[in-house]
Amino acid sequence: MPPTEETGLLTHIDGVDEGTVRRKTVTRAVVRGTLLVVFAVALAVVLLYNDLGELAGKLPKDPHKAAAVLLDQAPVIDGHIDLPELIRTVYANNASAVELDKPTRGHVDIPRIRKGKLGGFFWSVYVDCPSDAGEEFINATWRVRDTLEQIDISHQLIEKYRETFELTLTAADITSAISRGKVASLLGVEGGHQLGNSLGVLRTYYALGVRYMTLTHVCHNAFADSSGLFTGIEPLHHGLSPLGEALVYEMNRLGMLVDLSHTSDDTALQALNISRAPVIFSHSAARALHDIPRNVPDEVLKKVGTGPGQQDGVVMVNFYPAFVSDHPDEADVSTVADHIDYIASVTSRKHVGIGSDYDGIETTPIGLEDVSKYPALIAELYIRGWGKRDLAGLTGANLLRVKAGAEQVALQMAREGALPAADIYEKRPDLPSRRDH
Ligand SMILES: [Zn+2]
Repeated sequence: MPPTEETGLLTHIDGVDEGTVRRKTVTRAVVRGTLLVVFAVALAVVLLYNDLGELAGKLPKDPHKAAAVLLDQAPVIDGHIDLPELIRTVYANNASAVELDKPTRGHVDIPRIRKGKLGGFFWSVYVDCPSDAGEEFINATWRVRDTLEQIDISHQLIEKYRETFELTLTAADITSAISRGKVASLLGVEGGHQLGNSLGVLRTYYALGVRYMTLTHVCHNAFADSSGLFTGIEPLHHGLSPLGEALVYEMNRLGMLVDLSHTSDDTALQALNISRAPVIFSHSAARALHDIPRNVPDEVLKKVGTGPGQQDGVVMVNFYPAFVSDHPDEADVSTVADHIDYIASVTSRKHVGIGSDYDGIETTPIGLEDVSKYPALIAELYIRGWGKRDLAGLTGANLLRVKAGAEQVALQMAREGALPAADIYEKRPDLPSRRDH
């Protein structure tokens, strides 16, 4: 059988003639050439992400050219994009009806991803807080089904556009995918209300590829207190419940990042205190610049770091005008840059990132209208004196450090023989409580 596109040259092993040998030689040369190109690209990306930027040359003076050069070597890894929610609400989760290779109604499509040099992002598999769970969260809701559907639609679209996207699970996967020109795709669950009060569900989400979970959305749940949104809400647990502490342990053990966006200050402080692994705030701005409970206060920011009494982490700044400005209509690139600068001034430039919330927000800042606009933000910070390493940290290296750190903690806990948490929600009527066995 002659080699065809289906069988490929490497499967043609019947009879060796000169033609075959020539083809094999050509194939080897092509493979070698491709590997060299891949290696060169990988080297460029890894260099900037690994804080060795001086070896990759100076950035041009022109801020827009500088942003383009920087992003070619250290593209943005966005902590929070709500594309799956848009697919649910606009397309009823029909992947065949979605055309991401053409302009969409939202903030995200493949042409704009490429224009904005977005190298990776967390697909938020969000579903909203239930209104019918009851005061003790024990009524049945559809949130686990709906979360599974959001995971499914993300998997379907990553597969449908596999020339562009690649499902990535580890920090090494992310840099590998980016070095091959792929958009690294991770999944994040946005609230403990999506767990059905169950750590078994958490483990199942992990098995399906989920690599962070926000402890709460805008409602309290069985694990932890939320911050509320624009006005505060009465605390329930005053931070983490005992089950919430078990949740943080289990996330550490799995290597799933603990996300503290949306949580109350007490929840964030307690989680920072007990988590063995670095944490993230996947999409949060600074309360000092815009005073709403949803934003992170200095008291919490001061606990993010690598000094005594601190935990490593990255605060990925949200773009939503109503979160970043007292005058949302006037919010622009500079307003978002102010939040990044401020958070860096309280923590350091090693603890900031980008978590736009695109496709999850009704309005956007002037100049940051969609995923094609990240270069404008990088140019603004370059004008403000941010150097190449700082910018590469902001765009992706800080997140990669934290992600790898959480993976290391999981390995360490496995070496220590840490067992899966068997804690159950004490209000559940369907299982014997812990004291019964
Ligand atoms: Zn959110």
